[in-house]
Amino acid sequence: MSDCLFCKIVNGDIPASKLYEDDDVIAFWDIAPQAPKHFLVIPKKHISGLNKAEEADQQLLGKLMTVAARLAKEEGIGDNFRTVVNTGEEAGQTVFHIHMHILGGRSMQWPPG
Ligand code: 5GP
Ligand code: ZN
Repeated sequence: MSDCLFCKIVNGDIPASKLYEDDDVIAFWDIAPQAPKHFLVIPKKHISGLNKAEEADQQLLGKLMTVAARLAKEEGIGDNFRTVVNTGEEAGQTVFHIHMHILGGRSMQWPPG
């Protein structure tokens, strides 16, 4: 997707501070962190949101979770972190390439706003 911000990060057209990359996923620090540690894990494949994910994406989406947990551990927040996937504008999604937020390093409130 040539007009997708996160596809541009995947392709290296826009720089990002990366924590991790493999053939399937990349993880990078959020540009506007909402917690002392706030990074995103995304598939390299363009999927616009969780509402557009298909059965065939199951393994890839599962990988987002296991990579997120491993990186959280490496960043020292492995036992206390929040994972968020915003789906749709009203739920706070602003970038329409599926991504998982990982936030940690502070106490969290529930429910989120
Ligand atoms: P959403 O609001 O879609 O759930 O999350 C999008 C996230 O992407 C936001 O937390 C926002 O700060 C982050 N973001 C937007 N543009 C960029 C960028 O160019 N680089 C990085 N690293 N993060 C970005
Ligand atoms: Zn994309």
